[in-house]
Amino acid sequence: MATAVLAVQGAFAEHEARLAELGETCVELRQASDLRQRFERLILPGGESTTQGKLLDELGMLEPLRRRIEEGMPTLGTCAGMILLAKTLAAHDDKGTPRIATMDIEVERNAYGRQLGSFHANAELEGIGKVPMTFIRAPRIVTVGDAAEALATVDGHIVAARQGNQLALAFHPELDGDPRIHQLFLDL
Ligand code: GLN
Repeated sequence: MATAVLAVQGAFAEHEARLAELGETCVELRQASDLRQRFERLILPGGESTTQGKLLDELGMLEPLRRRIEEGMPTLGTCAGMILLAKTLAAHDDKGTPRIATMDIEVERNAYGRQLGSFHANAELEGIGKVPMTFIRAPRIVTVGDAAEALATVDGHIVAARQGNQLALAFHPELDGDPRIHQLFLDL
């Protein structure tokens, strides 16, 4: 088994390091030809969702990845990756930038404002228990649709959700030493 990590922009190396610690093989997706490599799982890292969405589209990776996620490939989206997975962006955010849009959630980008750029919390994640959560210019989940379920809240904001094979997190588990979320992903 191998996990593909989208590596066009953002915090992909940290995810690769966490997966390596768990003995998982990684391949990087930088261009369409990388999709020919063998992989069974996908990680969409944090970074800048508008840049990532545009690059995915321009590089011809958006449609093939969308298809594979819809076919059931286990997928973890963190922060910007969660924004790429969301079917809906809060209206004031939606500039029509291409996104994967396979998950029945509505998200708001930069939900904590520019003052509270980053912060740390410890909160319950369903199925795991208390985990450390690092937020960096983080989005939040405004609405969880019928197909998805909320997994964690911090200060009344939904910060994690799951829809079958898709796991979306507003925070950055790859930046904390705790391997349980990556293990949960590998067990999806
Ligand atoms: N604010 C970023 C965005 O809107 C997400 C931040 C992150 O991934 N750490 O894409």
